Amino acid sequence: MDKNRNYRFETRAIHEGIKDHSFEGSTLPPIFQSAAQRHETAESLSQTFAGQTSDHIYMRLSNPTNRFLEEKLANLESGTKAVVTGSGMAAINNACMTLLRAGDEFVASRSLFMSSYLLFTSIFKKYNITVHLVDPLNPEAIQKAITDKTRFVYVETITNPGMEVADIKTIAGIAHNNGIPLLVDNTLASPWLFRPMESGADIVMHSTTKYLSGHGAAIGGVVVDAGNFNWDSKKFADFEPFVQQKGNLAFLHRLWKETHVQFGTTPSPMHSFLTALGLDTLGLRMERHMENTIQAARFLKNHPKVKWVNFIGFEDHQCHDIALSQFKNKGFGAMLTFGLKDQDSCFKFINHLKLILNLANLGDCKSLIIHPYSTQYVSFPDDLKKELADPHLIRFSVGIEHIDDICSDLSQALEQA
Ligand SMILES: *Cc1c(COP(=O)(O)O)cnc(C)c1O
Repeated sequence: MDKNRNYRFETRAIHEGIKDHSFEGSTLPPIFQSAAQRHETAESLSQTFAGQTSDHIYMRLSNPTNRFLEEKLANLESGTKAVVTGSGMAAINNACMTLLRAGDEFVASRSLFMSSYLLFTSIFKKYNITVHLVDPLNPEAIQKAITDKTRFVYVETITNPGMEVADIKTIAGIAHNNGIPLLVDNTLASPWLFRPMESGADIVMHSTTKYLSGHGAAIGGVVVDAGNFNWDSKKFADFEPFVQQKGNLAFLHRLWKETHVQFGTTPSPMHSFLTALGLDTLGLRMERHMENTIQAARFLKNHPKVKWVNFIGFEDHQCHDIALSQFKNKGFGAMLTFGLKDQDSCFKFINHLKLILNLANLGDCKSLIIHPYSTQYVSFPDDLKKELADPHLIRFSVGIEHIDDICSDLSQALEQA
């Protein structure tokens, strides 16, 4: 790559991080399948332990394949530095636990990925940490929920199954006015569609299991630090030793040193390799995902058995305008939800699908469908279950197959619903 050139996203997704003479000319990073690294001298190992070199010691701390992916993802998210983890939940847990102490509070969107919801509302409670859940589309509610104990604001770019789009610039402004950072789970948008740091977000997380991999062959997560937030404040006095060492990258350094290394959230380098392999086609996949989703949404909207379709790309969607102004590539994501007559129709429809897969994942190149009420939310208390997912709702993660094949599978299964 030409160092003096600003390559575009799709080009960087493929070429970024492969240096001309690195890895003996390989065009992909090798899988460094070694639990620890040998050092030539006692001095070298001691210096590395003391943090004076960026060499590797032991796989739980770092690994060359994982580091390759970290540098690439930091670049693609317009951030400064990243830590990759064994799953998206590990990334979210690490980011939150780096900031939270017993007695602290944080403000989060009430529309959360199911595991994040459980982590925030039930697991963190055990540690006397309080989450205030608010409507992510209501900036005043976010401001109102912030107290002097609040350590951060947390939102997802696109929520699921609600299909809401958070206004990141406005929410970042609120967080910063209160001297706290904004954390964003950007999994459903992917950095191809939107890079929250360019709108003021301080920390971005992903489940790389989804669009970033795209093939459904790996699980992983990442935390990216913009490196802009000033941690040198009274509120974050506990960050002082990390600020001394790393300045504005105090957060990511603390995350790495405390939660990542001590909780043990390291990914296997095999999974980082597979994720890097997926990134090569991210730009192209996202284009096809977006195009197919628009067409699938139109098809469903016109089908007599479909009661309603919740798709951000429709002009009358409550978040259409914010999506148009915020998402750079004029896409609306590759997820939609739709309603059938009742749960029985939903089950009949799913049971007749021949191409689209009935499984609990999203962002795969394959089209995936799930009935959230009877699966992800099945063990939730009844009233909460109804609030989070309509029993008539089908969630559809639109894949990159030929759109005619997707629509004909929907059509034949809907006939049976
Ligand atoms: C899947 C997902 C996660 C969790 O990621 P895992 O890799 O499954 O741990 C977190 N947030 C969102 C929005 C997701 O879709």
